[in-house]
Amino acid sequence: MLIKTAGIVLKNSKFNENDSLLVIFTRKLGKVSAVAKGARNPKSVLLSGVQPFCYSDFVLYKGKSLYTVSQCDVKQSFYKLREDLDRLTYAAYLLELVSAETREGQTNNRLFNLLGKTLLIMSNPEAELNTVLRAFEIKFLHYSGYTPQLNDCVNCGSTQQTGWKFSPKEGGLLCSNCHSIDYKAIKMSDYTLKLAKYLLVKDISEIQKLKISNFLNLELSKVLKEYIFVHINKQSFKSLDIIEKI
Ligand SMILES: [Zn+2]
Repeated sequence: MLIKTAGIVLKNSKFNENDSLLVIFTRKLGKVSAVAKGARNPKSVLLSGVQPFCYSDFVLYKGKSLYTVSQCDVKQSFYKLREDLDRLTYAAYLLELVSAETREGQTNNRLFNLLGKTLLIMSNPEAELNTVLRAFEIKFLHYSGYTPQLNDCVNCGSTQQTGWKFSPKEGGLLCSNCHSIDYKAIKMSDYTLKLAKYLLVKDISEIQKLKISNFLNLELSKVLKEYIFVHINKQSFKSLDIIEKI
């Protein structure tokens, strides 16, 4: 059976002497593993479309345990990402996030569109990298079913205007009366909260040029990172380890 689907390559590893084993996030099948036969051969017609980040139209053939790439037509290679190590590494982080939260047979159109759009935005050197990354993280959580509660206290429902903390474990804001139920709750300034809500609802292409201060970026990044560690089944990201070493 042949299946035609758009897909973004999340990972490419060596399989046999000449073959590549791909992990592809596809629109129609969710995340799948697929062998690209002969793709390591420099003359292979598949070579350009099987690199990580590549967005292609794939024709896949379903075998007993794996898919085989029968054709691949590159739509967007995001090659400009490779010109900047920071951007490339953060883009790799997005792929790791998506890979951790997607399954075979489980489609997620909104996440698929978000990933494609974000990789394209990150290829533009003028896009504000921090803003785009924070927006991706919060939307990724939303589309994966882990929307953080940012409108009222997760414990008592209070809608107080200020003095919030954020509890990754409880899944959202804690009002000043409820801070004590999670001693690991993180202080969240009113500005950071406002930014988080804004990034959650705005289309990512509309915020790509929005500059945010280091303070806001660090505070929001800390909250989202902890939230991701608690809710996504992944404790470390190779790409982020690399960034810390750069
Ligand atoms: Zn409360």
